Amino acid sequence: MKKNVLMAVFCLSFLGVTTLPLVAETSGGWVGYVTYTPRPVATMIGFEDVDLLWLRDVSALVGVDGFTFLGRRDTDHWMALTNKGATWLLQIHDATARYNFRAMIQPRNGRITVEKGVDWSGTGRDADAAKAAEMAVQYVQRARSAEGLFSPAEAVDHAALGHTAAPAAASHAAPAAPAAAHGAPAVTHGDGGQAFWQRLVDGNLRFISGRVTHPNQSFARLEETAKGQKPFAIVVTCSDSRVPPEILFDQGIGDLFVIRTAGEVVNEVELGSIEYAIEHLGVAYLVVLGHERCGAVDATLKGGDLPPNIEAIAAQIRPAIEASRFFKGDPLDNAVRENTKLVLAKISGSAIVAEALHAGTVNLKAAYYDLDTGRVAALP
Ligand SMILES: [Zn+2]
Repeated sequence: MKKNVLMAVFCLSFLGVTTLPLVAETSGGWVGYVTYTPRPVATMIGFEDVDLLWLRDVSALVGVDGFTFLGRRDTDHWMALTNKGATWLLQIHDATARYNFRAMIQPRNGRITVEKGVDWSGTGRDADAAKAAEMAVQYVQRARSAEGLFSPAEAVDHAALGHTAAPAAASHAAPAAPAAAHGAPAVTHGDGGQAFWQRLVDGNLRFISGRVTHPNQSFARLEETAKGQKPFAIVVTCSDSRVPPEILFDQGIGDLFVIRTAGEVVNEVELGSIEYAIEHLGVAYLVVLGHERCGAVDATLKGGDLPPNIEAIAAQIRPAIEASRFFKGDPLDNAVRENTKLVLAKISGSAIVAEALHAGTVNLKAAYYDLDTGRVAALP
């Protein structure tokens, strides 16, 4: 079969035919995929240099064979990038719009080859492959500029579109264990706060790829928010000078309601601040952000006598050290992660937060900040 396909490619190339429709792969892998000779697709639409640079940065961060979601609303709407070294594999799954395909991108020149899942429009696979390649460019541009992939506004009901299911051409189990956007929301209301998390993830992707947009930092924004604030997320994190939320999430004035203490510990004062933001500002999302090599956790781990006020912080971190004592791996990193989750648990124990969780008006997430890469990842 392989030999026949190669022969067909040769003959078609010889005859000057530039597209190769409907190559059936029967020896394993994708069945019934469509491929295009790259040249016409690339010359027709191509990526801009800035898109390729951005993809290169993201790929470099995830490493060879690394995988990351560039955008994700739920299991039916996501876009992911796998770095295969010599190629990048872009997968887009949008059940609402019925765009489901996999595209190979050549890092050197941005050449796109659509591989599978181009059977959605009923206008033919050739047309769909061209459309898919065009969409790959658009989606990458949207991811790069953080326009909000798969925004809730796009979640029109399937019945209105006459769509009842994803096309049969592709199977779409969402890939497992993504580093960037993994972790179940604490409650299931609406989209589980996914849009808020996505906004933070998008900002962090801009930050780590050097494509920051510094949103909402104009004087006009200052004037707008002077009348009242409507932050979209509460961030509880460490006072460590290397973990500034607005910078690492690329957000601006009035976006984040931030609580910072050493080791992101919370007591009555911090819990009161959180409760105020939820009750009076209507904030519907909260992230507890622990970070790599946290000095407060490290000091607690090392033990010894501490001055009374610092001891008050250590006393709150100690349960995390106890809980992670027998974990495999690095004791400090284990304790940081455990502490982040315990802080989240403590916050969810507040009567007001618990009530909001029960009502489905708030979602919580624990996350981890990597000091070396600048990357934020959800904690499982
Ligand atoms: Zn810290």
